[in-house]
Amino acid sequence: MINFDNTVELKKSVQILKNLIKSDKIGHAYLFTGREGSGKKSAAIAFSKAINCSNLSENYNPCNHCSSCLKIEKEIHPDFQIIFPINSIISIDQIREIKKVIYWPPLESRKKIFIIDDAHKMTIPASNSLLKILEEPPAFAVLILITSKPEILLPTVISRCYQISFKQAKKANELAAEQPVNIEQNKYIDWLLKAKSAKMIHYFFSVQEKELNVITDSLLDFTEVMILWFRDILVFKLGLPQELLSFSGQIDNIVEFAQNYSPDKIMQVLDYLTQIPERMEQHINPKILLENFIMQIGD
Ligand SMILES: [Zn+2]
Repeated sequence: MINFDNTVELKKSVQILKNLIKSDKIGHAYLFTGREGSGKKSAAIAFSKAINCSNLSENYNPCNHCSSCLKIEKEIHPDFQIIFPINSIISIDQIREIKKVIYWPPLESRKKIFIIDDAHKMTIPASNSLLKILEEPPAFAVLILITSKPEILLPTVISRCYQISFKQAKKANELAAEQPVNIEQNKYIDWLLKAKSAKMIHYFFSVQEKELNVITDSLLDFTEVMILWFRDILVFKLGLPQELLSFSGQIDNIVEFAQNYSPDKIMQVLDYLTQIPERMEQHINPKILLENFIMQIGD
């Protein structure tokens, strides 16, 4: 049975959740972040149970015996639903399904709870659709987004959620392993900036094959960095808090880049980028995928 005490190493985040239950200040939207296996999903389920439990224990753990707790455990509670990726994505249709039911009052409980697991796998249209819900959620609704990659979520979605981080202390070797990634990231940003200053499309078609291969040989990594980059541009464009930036050290370049794109255009570019991994699985030539990307952002 899942309760808060299964989530051993996460005392601080669990304490925050218990305090919310204790003070009866349950908000509408939460974002649980943390690496795979950090216990965030168990915590989300325990939190859902505790919100609706009819027999809370003294330490604010759900009882795990009342009808509500049992139905949530078995995922058969009519006011509780877990949404997860199908074929690696959470589609707009899945968010529309939430929309259809979220405005109806709960059938059996105080709150109607939706957990969105692997929330970073929402497509851009799905994220935008969710955003509409987050802008005006009904009083009885609670949405809990879970993700190991908050940096990929739309910043507009993040800014609507109360974020709770399920951090575990990193080991020295893990920290060291993270270092080269940053160098790689900069390599791709440098390439993009160089291409931009030399008129993107012209640059793409005139550059040596060898240089393009550096990008296409690791197109997935490149794509991930581009998602972070355009997301940063969106953060700046929409005037969202700068803590949301992944490349805060590049703020001058972000400002300059942002001048060329409207928020809608950035959404389109992000939408295209998030589809690249799936298209690579369909064996579409990486060079064509890169070319389409350049055409989209080119001048
Ligand atoms: Zn209970």
